[in-house]
Amino acid sequence: MSEVMVDVRGVHKSFGALKVLRGVDLTVRAGEVTALLGPSGSGKSTLLRVINHLEKVNRGWISIDGELIGYRRSGDRLYELRERDILRQRTHIGFVFQHFHLFPHLTVLDNVVEAPVAALRRPRKEAVATAERLLARVGLADKAGAYPRQLSGGQQQRVAIARALAIEPKVLLFDEPTSALDPELVGEVLDVIKDLARSGTTMIIVTHEIGFAREVADTVVFLDGGVVVEQGPPGAVLDAPRHERTRAFLSKVL
Ligand code: ADP
Ligand code: MG
Repeated sequence: MSEVMVDVRGVHKSFGALKVLRGVDLTVRAGEVTALLGPSGSGKSTLLRVINHLEKVNRGWISIDGELIGYRRSGDRLYELRERDILRQRTHIGFVFQHFHLFPHLTVLDNVVEAPVAALRRPRKEAVATAERLLARVGLADKAGAYPRQLSGGQQQRVAIARALAIEPKVLLFDEPTSALDPELVGEVLDVIKDLARSGTTMIIVTHEIGFAREVADTVVFLDGGVVVEQGPPGAVLDAPRHERTRAFLSKVL
């Protein structure tokens, strides 16, 4: 088996009195795709956000490629990292949002070039060459000079994927990448993600596209009420769920 890339252990996260994550364990191996399913409000986005340290955990820990996220360990205590160490850790994690979040004032090419130059201090010429290669990979070589507003939602999301890949992340997190798209544009984005899956990109994908999850995921994780209710290969979780809550959820989305 390949090495563990993402390890989430006993993670709790509350907002005030609201307990959103209540002891989540999740292991993702290098090169594997995990589809994260669950009803609205079950904590899926929060789980992605704590992995990226956009939110701090209250209890438990997360590591990526063996490195604790947001903390260092000394003896049996955890100490918070400084902001600049957290920013460095974030450069190893790609995030693709539901609503793309491209920089509206930058061209498509500059959207992809920005992080490698600003955060990784790559020479611009090298970053441009990488960006051109990535834009070709997502089928948008001819849009390098366009601005986000000139693109369809599907094209904007493909730029967002190219941008996330430009930092050569150890893991790529997707939060409902096709939920904001018109139905006819969903396929082109899923095709790009399938291509990444085939080439061994480690990914965690929150999605309601069950057919897509069945096709690309190595592991399907069903989250409900802030805990992992069920996880396993797609054939097991989607076709023969063992838990009533999983069955009830699937009967609504299938
Ligand atoms: P999902 O992505 O599965 O729909 P979320 O992780 O977005 O669920 O949210 C889980 C719960 O946490 C929801 O009840 C939501 O309102 C709440 N929540 C999420 N983020 C915050 C926040 N920053 N402050 C307060 N409550 C939040
Ligand atoms: Mg969400």
